[in-house]
Amino acid sequence: MKKIEHIGIAVKDLEKSNELFASLFGKPHYKVEEVLSEGVKTSFFKSGPNKIELLEGTTAESPITKFIEKKGEGIHHIAFAVDDIEAEIKRLQKEGFIVLNETPKKGADNKLVAFLHPKSTNGVLIELCQEIE
Ligand code: ZN
Repeated sequence: MKKIEHIGIAVKDLEKSNELFASLFGKPHYKVEEVLSEGVKTSFFKSGPNKIELLEGTTAESPITKFIEKKGEGIHHIAFAVDDIEAEIKRLQKEGFIVLNETPKKGADNKLVAFLHPKSTNGVLIELCQEIE
């Protein structure tokens, strides 16, 4: 893993949170994206070299909707950039981590993504992401 790519925060109302985080960072989000397959709307903010992703669930089955029902709003995942997501999935599985999707899927922000089950990572949902060339 190379570095933290972004931190994902689950929010109830993306529009309101966009305003809140724009005040926090002193500048608006630079992109909004809906990932239909995941039932989420996302927006991205930059703070120096760091990125924050806000996520709102758009369906009742969305993992974000379920997360908020269970735990409320807050930090949802930490995403790490990787060069070769398939090799990294295999390596982590060998180490005993539970990978939620063995086949990387298309996530927001032009990335291939895979998630590690929080059960195997001290309660933290970890996203691996590789830039799509
Ligand atoms: Zn993410």
